[in-house]
Amino acid sequence: MPGFETIGKEEKDHVNEILETGILMRYNFDNQRNNHWKAKEWEEAIQDKIQIRHAHLTSSGTTALITAVKALGIGAGDEIILPTFTFVASVEALIFCNVIPVFADVDETLTLSPESVLKAISPRTKAIMPVHMCGGMADLDQLNQIAKANDLYLIEDACQSIGGKFQNQYLGTIGDVGCFSFDFVKTITSGEGGAVLTQDSSIYEYAHQFSDHGHDHLGNDRGAEKHPTLGLNFRISELQAAVGLAQWHKLDEILSQQRKIKSIIKNELLQFPEIQFRKYPDPSGDNGSFLSIFLTDETMTRKVVENLKSEGIPCAYWYDNHWHYIKKWDHFKHLKNDETYFAEFRDLLPDYENQDFSISDQIISRTITFPISLKINEITAKELGKKITEIIINQYNKK
Ligand SMILES: *Cc1c(COP(=O)(O)O)cnc(C)c1O
Repeated sequence: MPGFETIGKEEKDHVNEILETGILMRYNFDNQRNNHWKAKEWEEAIQDKIQIRHAHLTSSGTTALITAVKALGIGAGDEIILPTFTFVASVEALIFCNVIPVFADVDETLTLSPESVLKAISPRTKAIMPVHMCGGMADLDQLNQIAKANDLYLIEDACQSIGGKFQNQYLGTIGDVGCFSFDFVKTITSGEGGAVLTQDSSIYEYAHQFSDHGHDHLGNDRGAEKHPTLGLNFRISELQAAVGLAQWHKLDEILSQQRKIKSIIKNELLQFPEIQFRKYPDPSGDNGSFLSIFLTDETMTRKVVENLKSEGIPCAYWYDNHWHYIKKWDHFKHLKNDETYFAEFRDLLPDYENQDFSISDQIISRTITFPISLKINEITAKELGKKITEIIINQYNKK
């Protein structure tokens, strides 16, 4: 997820244009802004690139998700099905909207298992929210079919998979609504930022209004605008948009570089048949930002992770991670006892603590993920791949 590795002159130039006019706000001040509309320009660039009718920028991926849920009219006591493996923001967004998060297991795609989704559907279910983790994608064919058959919305959390595709369509553009994050560690960064993506103009109308206190954005007198809906301030600033616009133009370059580096590392790992690889419903659509492997069992995986860390090789073991896997989300599991939430809401929450996620556990406990850096060249990538393979083989030989 290395957008920040490419920050340079282009970002500075766009930011300086904004600082010269002094107009840091994305709306209004038409006379003073010397025709700089960075947020608007970036939205148009996103629309053109990923072929979506509407892209609306927000202050973060989290606020994009909240906006998406609200825009679909999903709220009090409704359920949304999402995977056990995601960044905790997906869950936070639902809670904030008074929506009950219902977890389904992940499979070897590291995303929602369609089979598990089918089991999680209830009369309260309003949407399925696949999370395209670590540059890859969920099986949108199957999930779309399930959504259609059960009259549910499909919300794509594409925060981690900017530029990835499924069957030639960009991730985030396939469901009813999609969301991007441009936080500091994402494929494209604006420091902080997010986007709501949709083909539906009424969802878009709601999204731009809701994320700016309900402003209808008609005319050029902000104070005289009407407020068709109650909203919040989830706006992006022109400073962030200036950075993001510069970053956006680097997307193809970033994708091709990380795909190349990833395939070099993967080629080395292919030498040892005990290593299994994450499955991609559409391998050509992988954005290439991470390489994920499965080893045979948890004990072996833990030992290998320990050895990788002691050799200074960056990798993630999600099973112990506090932010990305349900196992460590005690703060969230204890929500039932938090009296700042309405009792009615708390009563509807499932007993997460005692739910059985052993299918996910069996996958995640064997998963190791390597981030792909843009800063390494083909030679060091090959060396890195060799080194990882050697560490794994050594550990297997000790068995
Ligand atoms: C980063 C991320 C978010 C939230 O984005 P922020 O911009 O950090 O608020 C949501 N979902 C997933 C899967 C993410 O990786």
